[in-house]
Amino acid sequence: MDESTTFDDLGFHFEYFKAPVSHSDGYLGISDCTVCGRKDAPVIEISVGADLIVECRSCGMANAMDADDEIAPPCTNCGGVAGFPEKKKDEHQACCECLLTGRVAISKDTRVGILSWHSVRNGAFAVDAAKSEWQLNEQCHDDGTPNTRLEIDTLDSLLRTPSYFCWQNDLWPFHCGRPMAFLGCWEQAEFNQAAPDGDGLALFNAIVYSPDQAVWENRLHDERGIYVFRCTKCPKLWGYWDVA
Ligand SMILES: [Zn+2]
Ligand SMILES: [Zn+2]
Ligand SMILES: [Zn+2]
Repeated sequence: MDESTTFDDLGFHFEYFKAPVSHSDGYLGISDCTVCGRKDAPVIEISVGADLIVECRSCGMANAMDADDEIAPPCTNCGGVAGFPEKKKDEHQACCECLLTGRVAISKDTRVGILSWHSVRNGAFAVDAAKSEWQLNEQCHDDGTPNTRLEIDTLDSLLRTPSYFCWQNDLWPFHCGRPMAFLGCWEQAEFNQAAPDGDGLALFNAIVYSPDQAVWENRLHDERGIYVFRCTKCPKLWGYWDVA
């Protein structure tokens, strides 16, 4: 495995994460999954902002439990106890299979509010998204897909996706009514390679929100990141930057 290895290369096909594994947040390498017990699998740290999804022992209803503080609230359906799987290490770490199949859910900061297992189901995310309609329209002008039509299965898929490493908050964008796929934290070389005519700066100016020459030349701060996404339905690219 080298710097350019992706989750697809490892055999795990996250629709919304197409960047190198090294650009993810919390990837721990090969270890044991504390959720399903699988040995020697690619695992991701599951802590603040992540939930374990566990079925109630009484009624079978899926319940989300905060993986960091390990508070197990009563079952939302019957009031029974769901319970955490046995921990094998100090922190929970989930294999990619557990993430893909929804045994864990990693919350995301998005362009239209905080996306979590609870905020999808209690309607809070839809309310946030409605308040941010102008932002979504700005990004969905191709087809004008209203935020209320964001499909719950596409939102759940985003929860079943690794987070990306960034210096400030993650800020997952949407296009064509669904999450965009993260391509990576790009340097000039990636822009030059992706530009049809090799003019990376022109591509940077065209797709990055609030482009700035100092960001392109990396002379703004000690650290800067430029995060690039691609729509999974149309060819649209979009990016933004932050600094440390
Ligand atoms: Zn697992
Ligand atoms: Zn129950
Ligand atoms: Zn699109």
